[in-house]
Amino acid sequence: MRLERLVARGFRNLLDTELVFPPTGVALLGANGQGKTNLLEAIYYPVFFRSFHGALDQELVKFGGPGFRLEGDVGATSGRHQIAIRFLAAGKKKQIELDGSPAPRLAEHVGRWLAVAFLPQDLSLAAGPATERRRYLDRMLAIADRKYFVALAHYRAALAQRNAALRQGRMDLAHAFDSILAEAGARVLVHRVRWADEATTALAAELDALGEPAPVVVTYAGNRDLTDASAWPAALLAGENRDRQRGNTGIGPHRDDIRIGLGGHGVREFGSTGQQRTVAIALKFLELSTLERARQAPPALLLDDVFAELDRERQERLATRLSRAGERQVFLSSPRADELPPNLELPVWSVSAGQVLPA
Ligand code: ATP
Ligand code: MG
Repeated sequence: MRLERLVARGFRNLLDTELVFPPTGVALLGANGQGKTNLLEAIYYPVFFRSFHGALDQELVKFGGPGFRLEGDVGATSGRHQIAIRFLAAGKKKQIELDGSPAPRLAEHVGRWLAVAFLPQDLSLAAGPATERRRYLDRMLAIADRKYFVALAHYRAALAQRNAALRQGRMDLAHAFDSILAEAGARVLVHRVRWADEATTALAAELDALGEPAPVVVTYAGNRDLTDASAWPAALLAGENRDRQRGNTGIGPHRDDIRIGLGGHGVREFGSTGQQRTVAIALKFLELSTLERARQAPPALLLDDVFAELDRERQERLATRLSRAGERQVFLSSPRADELPPNLELPVWSVSAGQVLPA
């Protein structure tokens, strides 16, 4: 899957532009604050029709501007599509067009343009709290499989209603959501546990390629019995007093984590900064291969300032890993030319004061 052309108007600090990207992708080079991350944000936007780091649409509008427009031509084996987004700051109106026709239902178009992004803050995948890893699992598995998307939506809705009833002290009402919670929760867990069980081998291969020698073990940290919906009633009953006191539900996938051990110790607690960064990058490669297998199309890879804090050997290994990405388009950014490994096989474009200059 490739982004062949991008038009950006009124987006962040980027000067209005039309860019034609090479099939390999590009390395974006430029000093701090010039617009590299903004360009990556524009490239990623049509994946979910929102910012990759949770910024509001109105924050993407050029300061003082009326709105923004993005237009992306995506080429895939299944054909070519043009995805266009127009956002108007007045009234916060967002319109999506697919191949020139209005496409009102956003969710149906997620996946037409597939990309995986690594941002500096994704270090928290390895170093941060469990919520970060749950978000990683949920986003990845939801794009990979529509059934997960649906189960997760049902689970979240049932959980919110059950918790609201618990907060009101209405146990009878809370129990009304138990069976849907069990059904949907079990389905969510089946997908997650299956992914986690395959993850150790896959992550070990990625870490090896990136130069991390310590053996890795991925474990699903949660109650595996709950992959069976029939195990839920007893578990919910056992937690009833706690749930009543706290006003929320104490069991289920919303409490789980994936634990990553490196050399026998938790990477979150004991990993060095470089090791945590390497694990976070490896998790992104795993996301990429998970999506590629599920959607039968290689997603593009976006790497924002990925070489920072990696030693020279790891930088070069990462560049090698990227060049064997084959079919995959890669967009990466760096503020320093000397951080780009010599074996990086990407054309270097510069970004300066919001202007993107192809080599
Ligand atoms: P770094 O190397 O420090 O990460 P960068 O090249 O990635 O730098 P960006 O994060 O893309 O820089 O930001 C460039 C500039 O865009 C920032 O200085 C910021 O002030 C500006 N900016 C952010 N949002 C908007 C906006 N909505 N309108 C205009 N300018 C904006
Ligand atoms: Mg940046």
